[in-house]
Amino acid sequence: MRLRPHHLLCTQGYSGKGYNSEFVVNMTAITDLLRSGERVTVDIVFSTDDICGKCPNFVKEGVCKDNDKVNRFDKKVMAYFGIEERRYIYNDIIHDINSQMTPSMMDDICSECSWYPVSACKEKIAR
Ligand code: SF4
Repeated sequence: MRLRPHHLLCTQGYSGKGYNSEFVVNMTAITDLLRSGERVTVDIVFSTDDICGKCPNFVKEGVCKDNDKVNRFDKKVMAYFGIEERRYIYNDIIHDINSQMTPSMMDDICSECSWYPVSACKEKIAR
């Protein structure tokens, strides 16, 4: 599975709300697998990913309608946690991220996101 850096947070905070039904079906399938307890391999990509592919904001490979904003999210996650464009085990990398995350770091990364106030991100990641 391909994931962009900031989706390492979205996949933890997701609570069934999304842009439209196609997005929700895909996001639910992805998060069900990632939360199953299996050691799922993820390829981190500095581009659009398997979540973006079913999103109404997806324009084409590498381009989101909100490119500037989502690239800022990605860059902050990369900088805070040293995320590289390579293969990881999902549970290992989110454990690393969550063990370092603070509420103020989350506010810095996520405050521009429209889902941040309505999803469970902060509660699940920066406990
Ligand atoms: S809003 Fe952009 S970054 Fe987020 S899932 Fe949709 S296409 Fe991807």
